[in-house]
Amino acid sequence: MGGPHWQIGRIVGIPITVHVSWFVVFGFVTWSLATGYLPDMLPGLPAPRYWLMAAVAALLLFGSVLLHEIGHSLVARRYRIPIGQITLFVFGGVAQMHREPPGPRAEFLIAIAGPIVSFLLGGLLLGLATTARMGQGLVALGILLGSVNIQLGLFNLIPGFPLDGGRVLRAGLWAWSGDFHRATRQAALAGQGFGIVLGVVGTILLAGAATGAIPGPLTANGGWIVLIGAFLFAAARGSRRQAALLASLAKVSVEDLMVRNVVTIPPDLTVEEAVARYFLPHGFEGFPVGEAGRFLGMVTIHDVQAVPQSQWPWRSVRDVMEPRNDDTEVAPSTSAVTVLEQMLREGRGRLAVVQDGLLVGLVTRSGIGRFLQLRGVRR
Ligand SMILES: [Zn+2]
Repeated sequence: MGGPHWQIGRIVGIPITVHVSWFVVFGFVTWSLATGYLPDMLPGLPAPRYWLMAAVAALLLFGSVLLHEIGHSLVARRYRIPIGQITLFVFGGVAQMHREPPGPRAEFLIAIAGPIVSFLLGGLLLGLATTARMGQGLVALGILLGSVNIQLGLFNLIPGFPLDGGRVLRAGLWAWSGDFHRATRQAALAGQGFGIVLGVVGTILLAGAATGAIPGPLTANGGWIVLIGAFLFAAARGSRRQAALLASLAKVSVEDLMVRNVVTIPPDLTVEEAVARYFLPHGFEGFPVGEAGRFLGMVTIHDVQAVPQSQWPWRSVRDVMEPRNDDTEVAPSTSAVTVLEQMLREGRGRLAVVQDGLLVGLVTRSGIGRFLQLRGVRR
């Protein structure tokens, strides 16, 4: 997700971050509760009370979204899927998982855990609000939070990828065909379809509100539903393209698409010589460092930039390179999908292809792009 975001803490060891767009929706929810729902439910209170209660309710709403995401994350963890972070943003929350589920059953359980948390929470809150002896304020809050949680669970069960319901659908299709990428493409196509449906429904609500055919309170929802539909459509289209791309790479290994004529920099060159003789004339972002065919490490433009220019004449490439490790290299037989995922996860543009300590090739992101282009796959 682009744009600024801030970590606000950790829950069960998972970093929780808030995206800048979250503040917009937080403000909007607080405003609509303070000026609409609360004065309707609890008439006759001073305005500051409404705003304070509204802000507390809005925070609790986001707490509910967070619990939903923690539901997904805890089940994912049971399958040893690393969770990068949970991000709250304008359309709710997202738990970033660093690996795909190992099988359809895991996919199903991870996906369904979020809505189950929302339904349990919603049922509990509604039950408390309607049976326990509490003040009017708490009852209004309980009904609000309870019904929002139920809505959250229901909305997420829409069977269009990447919503939870779409993941459940993918798990089913995956179990049926045994083809993960095909299941993703089909479930994402459903996601695009539901995105369009939401867009149409939202537009009808907006038009109905504008002409007076539909009563006022639904107006705000119309615009919101159009936005969510657009978001779902875009996310689903992205997932479908990515699945198509990964499917066409699935049967390919690194050997098939690596560069074989690799330009290597000798380790004892100075940084100044490396810049003049390699970086500038070749125009590459980085080079493997090697000696007598052995792979020693990787040096990139960023490693060079980190060294003050006054030190370039005497610092050696060996000094400034990233020494070889598991993250800088892959074996020739590695699947191209695994490599692409590794590059995207670690933000690397190139990996050395190494066999028995010897450098046999180089695989780059742009090289993978060219390979796909030559086979007629759109990037
Ligand atoms: Zn979910």
